Amino acid sequence: MKFEDLGLSDDILKALSRKGYTKPSPIQKEAIPAVLKGRDIMAAAQTGTGKTAGFTLPILEILRKGQPAKAKQVRTLIVTPTRELAAQIQESVEAYGKHLDLTSIVVFGGVKINPQIKRLHRGADILVATPGRLLDLHQQKAVKFDDLEILVLDEADRMLDMGFIHDIRKIIYHLPSQRQNLLFSATFSNEIRKLAKSLVNDPVEISVSTRNTTADTVKQWICPVDKKQKPELLAHLIHDNQWEQVLVFSRTKHGADRLTRQLEKNQITAVAIHGNKSQGARTKALAGFKKNNVRVLVATDIAARGLDINQLPQVVNFDLPNVPEDYVHRIGRTGRAGQVGQAVSLVSADEIKQLRDIERLIGRLLERKIIDGFEPDHDVPESSLQPQKTARKPGGGNSQPNKKTNYRNRNNTNKNNKKRGGGQNTQGKKKATGTKSGSRQN
Ligand code: ADP
Ligand code: MG
Repeated sequence: MKFEDLGLSDDILKALSRKGYTKPSPIQKEAIPAVLKGRDIMAAAQTGTGKTAGFTLPILEILRKGQPAKAKQVRTLIVTPTRELAAQIQESVEAYGKHLDLTSIVVFGGVKINPQIKRLHRGADILVATPGRLLDLHQQKAVKFDDLEILVLDEADRMLDMGFIHDIRKIIYHLPSQRQNLLFSATFSNEIRKLAKSLVNDPVEISVSTRNTTADTVKQWICPVDKKQKPELLAHLIHDNQWEQVLVFSRTKHGADRLTRQLEKNQITAVAIHGNKSQGARTKALAGFKKNNVRVLVATDIAARGLDINQLPQVVNFDLPNVPEDYVHRIGRTGRAGQVGQAVSLVSADEIKQLRDIERLIGRLLERKIIDGFEPDHDVPESSLQPQKTARKPGGGNSQPNKKTNYRNRNNTNKNNKKRGGGQNTQGKKKATGTKSGSRQN
């Protein structure tokens, strides 16, 4: 199938061939016609498979046929969890809509609001926004939603988790009830999926690969190592393998700053990106990394979602994320659009629970490599995809902890499933407290 067969106009096709796209990806093949029909969509497709064009192209096609936006009004709202992703989507909208007479604006927090208010004065056919700043602008009456036709939640499961759901509900409250809703993500937990369904109207559900899977083009392995040894091991791996462009994920902002300093001490140029940095510093860090001016970008999970760094070869999890879906997103920064990539996780004994959760989510055990000179004193126990009964101490009869560790096993059909779902929520909550402050800054 070609883009020509999908009902897109010549001006859009021209922009696509300029981008070098020859044929639509699987998610695009399914999503584009469904969006053009005016249907609500809930789409799950692997990281790096072109979801952005999957919603943007049909939106451009729909908008080009209607009336231009009036003052302060927006016709399409695309909401994303991070500022960097908002900026990136805006760039895609501009590129795909290059030959069309449509206007688009991006707004996010951390930068002055007045220029955004000014820009919104004339309205926009497409507004890309992070939730916090969008609500601010709406409260200041800088933007109005009376003519809103389409709402997109990119990284939809993140937008609906505890960190963002309140803002999203407030935004939706102000939107016309007659509208088209498009929800896209690479991961959907069962809870979020249920919640998502309450926001859409008779949606077309698209799932082009099994939910929560990682791209086959990403080679994944883990290095069992003692916690203290991690910075040295990372420097060793970078030098030894001559990794020239590495995105490293750290669970905490402090950890990211500390690791950056440790790498610099080892003659490895590194810069950190996280929620405590000014927006100027964040933008500069990402741009420098994309241009290969710095070898390592040390990031918190603000860089886990959606960012498309051309031909990024290497992702490292300096520590494992608490929420297993985040692993899928983190490593999805490499191996995009069919390219190859490598994702390495440094795992210490205290992270066995996170490791098990991740392995169950992606449905496979990760290959282990112990690096000479970094053999751990504290073993990382072998994991298993089976519901975990064996890890209990012999004779330990208390079943409570087992329930907790087992909650991720989606294939488990026994009736504790509900409770396990509850466990999942609790964990989502923990994570969400972290994202919440992030969302406020947006
Ligand atoms: P996702 O949102 O699914 O993670 P993106 O929309 O960010 O993926 O796209 C990933 C990369 O693939 C981008 O660099 C984009 O330019 C490229 N891409 C998207 N669609 C196509 C296509 N049909 N052919 C070639 N490259 C594409
Ligand atoms: Mg995306």
